[in-house]
Amino acid sequence: MSDNGSSAETGVTPETGVTPDTGATAEMPSISTEVLIIGAGPAGLFQVFELGLLGIKAHVVDSLKQAGGQCTELYPDKPIYDIPALPICGAQELIDRLLQQIKPFGAQLHLGEEALELKKQDNGRFRVLTSAGTLFDAGAVVIAAGVGSFQPRRLSIEGGERFEGSHIHYRVKNAADFHGRRLVIFGGGDSALDWTLELAPKAASIALVHRRSEFRAAPASVQRMHELVAAGKLRLFEGLAHSLLSDAEQLKGVQLKSTHGEQQLLDAEHLLVFFGLAPKLGPIADWGLTIHRRTIAVDTHRFQTNVPGIYAVGDINDYPGKKKLILSGFHEAALAAFAVKEHLRPGEKVHLQYTTTSPLLQKRLGVSGEAGDSAPGNPGARHSA
Ligand SMILES: Cc1cc2nc3c(=O)[nH]c(=O)nc-3n(C[C@H](O)[C@H](O)[C@H](O)COP(=O)(O)OP(=O)(O)OC[C@H]3O[C@@H](n4cnc5c(N)ncnc54)[C@H](O)[C@@H]3O)c2cc1C
Repeated sequence: MSDNGSSAETGVTPETGVTPDTGATAEMPSISTEVLIIGAGPAGLFQVFELGLLGIKAHVVDSLKQAGGQCTELYPDKPIYDIPALPICGAQELIDRLLQQIKPFGAQLHLGEEALELKKQDNGRFRVLTSAGTLFDAGAVVIAAGVGSFQPRRLSIEGGERFEGSHIHYRVKNAADFHGRRLVIFGGGDSALDWTLELAPKAASIALVHRRSEFRAAPASVQRMHELVAAGKLRLFEGLAHSLLSDAEQLKGVQLKSTHGEQQLLDAEHLLVFFGLAPKLGPIADWGLTIHRRTIAVDTHRFQTNVPGIYAVGDINDYPGKKKLILSGFHEAALAAFAVKEHLRPGEKVHLQYTTTSPLLQKRLGVSGEAGDSAPGNPGARHSA
């Protein structure tokens, strides 16, 4: 899925040559961009801003369907207390503010696309292929991939892999596919409960299985679920999936094991599993970067990896004294932006400028005339152009 708001300095060009590693063919069109940012968490979003102030355009890819990384995916409603000058800020609010702050730079967000392959070309540029088949031709790459791509936690059961996508599902693409079917839903969070409530009136039969009696889902959903159980419209089980019952092609059922060791066979055509998401470094591990304990080694003045032109900011990077804080990611993004500029335009002079007083920076921010250049001698915010 691609967001709108394409940048003036990027465009689609046909690729020449064949890259066996990326599977890209001669005719495959690519998106040409000065910088590709991998990851739309707080560090990746702020990277757009810092590059934008320097007049550098970027595209952003993220495997999640929404921007925000851990803030949005793991703790959107929690307050954060250590963002400078914001004594308290909700995690989702922080992401909304960052999205607002980067608006002037028109970076295109490619959401729901995992960056799979990254390869340096003979001309020094980078080709990045995503899971959606989008091919980027980038002058520099900033990896802001946090703790990695979020992947659904899988059902650990023998023989389960061969039914994934056909009879075992980790997300619902089309609810109608499950109407009139015999379903077993696993999980105790909001996704499990929401889909249970949604599908209960439409399924041929439905059971909910959770490993314990307490649920993490919204109390109203839990109450409604218990009402359906009391009305005989839903069966509820406490336990874990133990084994599958199937023939060659068809899933027939699932055997449960309760916490007390009792077994129970449930008739089922489809298993819907909602155990949440877990981060995985994934394809980044294969890009020829120096990786130590699932983090990418960088220097501390450019945040460059062992491959010139590839930078890493935020939770994904590692250097002496690294702290996995949003604040650190912001600092790293600022310095990486300067380094990226030097990489893209070597020898070009970089003048330090302030957003409070620089007409150029204000023009880039789209605030010309609003902020004015009053208060001489008061540096306020700073940047270079
Ligand atoms: C419960 C909790 C509370 C926290 N509270 C605080 C706090 O109070 N203060 C604080 O400073 N920090 C806090 N943190 C830590 C903070 O959330 C992280 O430091 C921050 O999110 C890191 O930002 P990031 O942009 O580097 O990475 P992330 O937020 O992890 O974002 C990385 C993004 O990259 C994407 N990605 C990864 N690999 C790929 C790929 N191959 N292709 C495409 N996309 C990819 C991921 O999908 C993800 O969206 C908290 C963390 C948690 C879990």
